[in-house]
Amino acid sequence: MQRVFIEDIARYEGQEVLLRGWLTNRRSKGKIHFLQLRDGTGFLQATALKGELAEAEFEEADHLPQETALEVRGLVRADPRAPGGYELVLRGLRVIARPSQEYPITPKEHGVDFLMDHRHLHLRHRRAWAALRVRDELERAIHDFFHQRGFVRFDAPILTPNAVEGTTDLFEVDLFDGEKAYLSQSGQLYAEAGALAFGKVYTFGPTFRAERSKTRRHLLEFWMVEPEVAFMTHEENLKLQEELVAYLVGRVLEEKKRELELLERDTRALEATAAGQFPRLTYTEAVERINQLAQTRPELGLAPLAWGEDFGAPHEAALSLEFDRPVFVEKYPAAVKAFYMQPDPQDPRLVLNDDLLAPEGAGEIIGGSERIHDPELLRRKIQEHGLPEAVFDWYLDLRRFGTVPHAGFGLGLERTVRWICGLEHIREAIPFPRMYTRMRP
Ligand code: ATP
Ligand code: MG
Repeated sequence: MQRVFIEDIARYEGQEVLLRGWLTNRRSKGKIHFLQLRDGTGFLQATALKGELAEAEFEEADHLPQETALEVRGLVRADPRAPGGYELVLRGLRVIARPSQEYPITPKEHGVDFLMDHRHLHLRHRRAWAALRVRDELERAIHDFFHQRGFVRFDAPILTPNAVEGTTDLFEVDLFDGEKAYLSQSGQLYAEAGALAFGKVYTFGPTFRAERSKTRRHLLEFWMVEPEVAFMTHEENLKLQEELVAYLVGRVLEEKKRELELLERDTRALEATAAGQFPRLTYTEAVERINQLAQTRPELGLAPLAWGEDFGAPHEAALSLEFDRPVFVEKYPAAVKAFYMQPDPQDPRLVLNDDLLAPEGAGEIIGGSERIHDPELLRRKIQEHGLPEAVFDWYLDLRRFGTVPHAGFGLGLERTVRWICGLEHIREAIPFPRMYTRMRP
């Protein structure tokens, strides 16, 4: 008999198949027991009917504890009442492993802390499972997107000697003989070296930021994809970001329908996003818009902004609620941004950068910019930002030898998963979250 997986079950309608998996829940009406099964690829209801199964197996089916590992045989039947549209009429049941204790996560409601303390088991449950399957789809879609466009994947180091944007958010690591290194907070500087060697590259790896924040959008360890392209302008950079985000969302809509349904995700904003055409505001326009909102909608409780200030999370959220798809905010004041950003030729107080804010209040998912390519200007900016010039000598080499305009951006994977899945908190967007308030399991 053929062993099959739940995700393919529709193909076997009317056939007898073999499944291996686990019991997630059960109930009984006396002559019929309903067993909820999972096999990693999906969830399926199996029915044990008196007479269809051997007497002993029928009896046992009513006593199995949650998370018993099972091998079952049964007939696949279409049933519109069954969740997923199919059920399995059991013909045979064999226990592979019976739990040695009572399973801690029962079908009743549990608090978030309890679930996160049991994250190693929580992964088996529907919502966590669905969100992490979306994450997997996104990871593959990211590689497909860039490889289809001729990018080379370029791995940046995780141990780094220098800080990209100042040292306050850095995790320090002891090397040998008192020497220190830092965990990477961005692969960008290395990606720039890659772009000048390979033309178009992207890095995709873990990123570390020592943020003592308890927001729903910050992790200590997260994954970031960072494309970097030689000769790319600010305009082309925005176009690449729009194409990437529209493609990623389109892939999830197409390939992860079941998961989005399971998460009860309203997909209207996702459908708008997949169509592209993201609106754009300049930083200056965004400030005006926020101040308007602060005045006309006091219930939002927004603090008014002076030109030159950076946005807080509530400002970003309020802005992103104004649009049905992601919105670009471009050309921020240089003073609030990193040292390497190219000044706007039209207004040197500004830089050629952008943040992409996801809709529905989700906030920033991308930060990008054109990079300074003039060696003198870059040296001056390093000094002005009080950064040690010696550690950036190699970075200045990129401007000494065949320097060209170039640009890139960083997209946070967990922020993207959180928004696409409609998750309340970023901790659900990664298998084992690392946060200011959580390191275990
Ligand atoms: P924020 O202002 O929201 O902290 P940032 O300006 O520090 O973001 P960038 O340095 O531009 O972010 O990093 C690029 C992207 O990396 C962000 O758009 C976001 O998607 C992601 N990111 C940044 N910090 C975190 C974090 N602590 N946890 C998860 N993702 C993050
Ligand atoms: Mg930050």
